Amino acid sequence: MSNLETFFREPIKKTDPEVSAIVKNEIKRMSEGLELIPSENVVSLAVLNALGSVFTNKYSEGYPKKRYYGGNENADAVELLAIERAKKLFGVPHANVQPYSGSPANQAVYFATCKPGDVIMGHNLPDGGHLTHGWKVNFSGSYYHSVPYHVKADGYIDLEEIKKLAMENKPKLVWCGATAYTREFPFEEIGKIADEVGAYFATDIAHISGLVAGGAHKSPVPYADIITTTTHKTLRGPRGAMIMVTEKGLKKDPELADKIDKAVFPGLQGGPHDHQTAAIAVTLGEALKPEFKEYAHQIVKNSRALAAALMKNGIKLVTNGTDNHMILIDLTPYGKGKGIFVQEALDLANITLNKNTIPADPASPFYPSGVRLGTPAITTRGLKEAEMDFVGGCIARVIKEVCTKYQLPEDKTQIKDYLKKFRSEIKNNSVIAQVKQEVIEFTKKFPLYTTLDY
Ligand SMILES: *Cc1c(COP(=O)(O)O)cnc(C)c1O
Repeated sequence: MSNLETFFREPIKKTDPEVSAIVKNEIKRMSEGLELIPSENVVSLAVLNALGSVFTNKYSEGYPKKRYYGGNENADAVELLAIERAKKLFGVPHANVQPYSGSPANQAVYFATCKPGDVIMGHNLPDGGHLTHGWKVNFSGSYYHSVPYHVKADGYIDLEEIKKLAMENKPKLVWCGATAYTREFPFEEIGKIADEVGAYFATDIAHISGLVAGGAHKSPVPYADIITTTTHKTLRGPRGAMIMVTEKGLKKDPELADKIDKAVFPGLQGGPHDHQTAAIAVTLGEALKPEFKEYAHQIVKNSRALAAALMKNGIKLVTNGTDNHMILIDLTPYGKGKGIFVQEALDLANITLNKNTIPADPASPFYPSGVRLGTPAITTRGLKEAEMDFVGGCIARVIKEVCTKYQLPEDKTQIKDYLKKFRSEIKNNSVIAQVKQEVIEFTKKFPLYTTLDY
C-alpha cells in the first residue's frame, strides 16, 4: 500500500524521466501563471488520486448490477455513489455519469430525443454557443436541421427571436447554454417557449454547473427536461460529463431517463472510464460540502471585482459586466481582430486566456475581436476581490501595449508574415517582461498545491 500512496511521484520519475520532466514543466507553468481560461480549474489532490487509481484497469460495460464483465462490485459501488451524489447535489431524479466528456454527453441527448434531419435550436457559435448546439461543421449541424438563435447587439440572448424561430420551425429539441456568455441564462423563459412548441428542453450547464451546485447561479432544474454538464469546469473535477433528467422531463416523457441511458450505452459508448467515475464521485462529494458554496460565490465576487478593475482601466466589456465566472473583453475600441495579439502577449506574461468572438464581431472567428477570461481557477488558488486590482491592471497594461502597436493587415496573404514579426518583437517587449516578473512574484503567495513536491 505504501507504494501506492506515492504513486504521483516515484514510479514515473524512475521509469519515464522524459514524461516526468514534461509533467514537472507543466506544474511549473501552472504554478507561475494566472490561469484565466474560464473552462479550466485546479482539482484537489483527492480528485487526482481517484483519477490515478487502479480503476483505470477495469472494464465495466453496462450499468451498475447490469454489467457485461465480471469483477465489478467495486466499479458498481463507485458509480452508484457518484449517481447518488449527483442526484442529491442538483436535486434531480436521474443521473448518468458515464459520458466521456461534454461533447459526447450532448451527442447522447440528440441520439435519445431526435432522428437525423429533425429540427433543433441552439445558441449560435459565434454568439457564444457551443459547437454541439448545431454548429454547421459539427455532427449536430450536419445530422440535424439546425436553426440557431443569437444574442442582441447589447450581448443578451434574444428571447423574441427564439420565440419567433420556435413557432416557425417547430423544433424537436431546444438548447440553452453557452461557452461564452456572461449573464444569467433565461432558463424559465426559453423553457416556456420549448414547452409551447412541444420540444424537449435541454440545458447545457457545462460552464456554470459549479455555480449552480453552490447556489451562485439560478438552477435550471425546474424548467429543463434534460441537463448536461461537464465535470471539469466550475464543478472542479476530472474531465468528464453527466446527463441528468428532471421531474419535469419524466413528466413530459416517462421513458426519457431510459432513452438517455441507452443513448450513452450501448448507443454511443463502450466501457465507462471507471477511474473518471471515481474522480467524479470525489468531486461531487466535495461540491456537497458547505465550503463549496463559499467557493462558488467567491468565483462570482472575484469575477465582478475583476470586471470592475478592467473597466476602471478603460477596458470595454461585452454587456458592461458579468453575472457569472466569465468576462468577455471587447477590443474593438482599438480596431478589429485584436484578440490574437492580446492572447499571445498575455501568454508571454504568464497570464492565460483565449481569443474569442464578440457579438456582431467585425472580424473573422479565426481572428476575433475579443478575449474571454474567468475566475474559477484563480479563485481555487485563493485569490479574493482585493487581488483583482492587480490582475486587472496587468491585463489592461498588456492590452494597451499591443493593441495600440499592432493591427492585422487587411490583405489576408500578409497575415502570416505580420504575426511572425509580432511574435519576434513581443519577446523583447519591456512592458510584457515587467508584467511577467510581477506575475511570477505574485503567484508565489498562492501555491498551486502545497503538498506536491515534484
Ligand atoms: C465545454 C463545453 C462543452 C464540451 O465539453 P468537452 O468536454 O470539451 O467536450 C459542451 N457544452 C458547453 C456549453 C461547454 O462549455
